[in-house]
Amino acid sequence: MEHLLNRDPVLPRVAEAQEVLWLNPKLQPAAQALECAELGMDDIRDAQARLDRFASFIRVCFPETEPRGGLIESPLTPIPMMQKMLEERFGAVIPGKLLLKQDSHLAIAGSVKARGGIYEVLKHTEELAMEAGLLKETDDYAKLATPEMREFFSNYTVQVGSTGNLGMSIGIASAAVGYKVIVHMSVDAKQWKKDLLRSHGVQVIEYEADYGEAVKQGRAQSDADPMSYFVDDENSKNLFLGYAVAALRLQDQLREQGITVDENHPLLVTIPCGVGGAPGGVAFGLKQVYGDNVHVFFSEPTQAPCMLVGMATGLHSQVCVQDVGLTGLTEADGLAVGRPSGFVGGVMEPLLAGEVTISDPKLYVFMRALLESQDIFLEPSACASFQGPVELLKQEAGCAWCEKMGLTAEKLANSTHIAWATGGALVPADIREHYKTMYL
Ligand SMILES: *Cc1c(COP(=O)(O)O)cnc(C)c1O
Repeated sequence: MEHLLNRDPVLPRVAEAQEVLWLNPKLQPAAQALECAELGMDDIRDAQARLDRFASFIRVCFPETEPRGGLIESPLTPIPMMQKMLEERFGAVIPGKLLLKQDSHLAIAGSVKARGGIYEVLKHTEELAMEAGLLKETDDYAKLATPEMREFFSNYTVQVGSTGNLGMSIGIASAAVGYKVIVHMSVDAKQWKKDLLRSHGVQVIEYEADYGEAVKQGRAQSDADPMSYFVDDENSKNLFLGYAVAALRLQDQLREQGITVDENHPLLVTIPCGVGGAPGGVAFGLKQVYGDNVHVFFSEPTQAPCMLVGMATGLHSQVCVQDVGLTGLTEADGLAVGRPSGFVGGVMEPLLAGEVTISDPKLYVFMRALLESQDIFLEPSACASFQGPVELLKQEAGCAWCEKMGLTAEKLANSTHIAWATGGALVPADIREHYKTMYL
């Protein structure tokens, strides 16, 4: 372990479960980094077009998406009162404008997983239907919701390993198409998430072990069944591209709100990170759209900073948080991952601005602050997103980094900060009440 910790000056503090700000020494100019990436804008546009084709189907299955014509998209909300509260209570001066990207309120799954998870189920559905000669790209995809089609899909199984939210997204979407669904839940998964899934007819298998083990078991069971498809959260390019579409949608939303992003109007985004797929996909899309004018940070729990450990050691999925003496245990169930995605780590290495880590009690402090200031509820995992702007702008190292990146006081005054709120809408009322008193 000693020589692991020598690989980056931040690691000894990470190993002590301290809150840290880490600035990525391997960050490259976006054009250079994106040139080497195996995925590109064409892939993101292809995913966007697929979601558009499925809109008529989504509308039929999930009437709550009717107002957006079957698009699953979330509000982008200015939170000036929270911005003020962060300044008053947390000692950071946040110039520019703070916005909340409310994926917490995405239809169907109530979390960011409604992007990647549902996209992957739909892509698989399109492939199966096309192979069987039941669907053409030019068809109205609403036909996939007919009883005959459901009958066809009921011959197939979808399986996934999850800490909770991915299982809910895949489970609810797959059940809507008509698949048999098996969700392999890690020990961190909350009871209400399991209960909700079972109410949708999903088979939930519980493990005493962590997320990595749930994935391993799920994959093995799925591989043994030729009619079963396994959603691989650690390596799936489909999931990643589903998340990346968020950037194209965000671009439209920023334009609609009259917010400019360019060299003089930088965009700074913080996204909570578990295994890496969701924040990685969103970040990759944002770098495609905004290049060097967007700076993306990930935020992780102090006991489960798997992506940070992977990045700072350069070992990616070859290292886990237990290797540096951390537990991997956190109340932030969406982020309770000990080993990062190697695929995402590789893609993000030259693109990620940096990382912050946050203690469990602080998640609840932010959660209550947002409730108090803006009357918006987020699940604890999602509240990790506020740590980015606060730590970057509070710490000397953060300010020095801004200077180095050419983010002058003038540019920061014109900047937009986005806290990417990754989950919350489905949390039951009694659990919300319980959260309100946690660590008090
Ligand atoms: C899954 C999840 C994340 C992180 O996504 P990963 O793909 O695991 O990195 C963040 N917040 C919430 C609420 C989540 O459910």
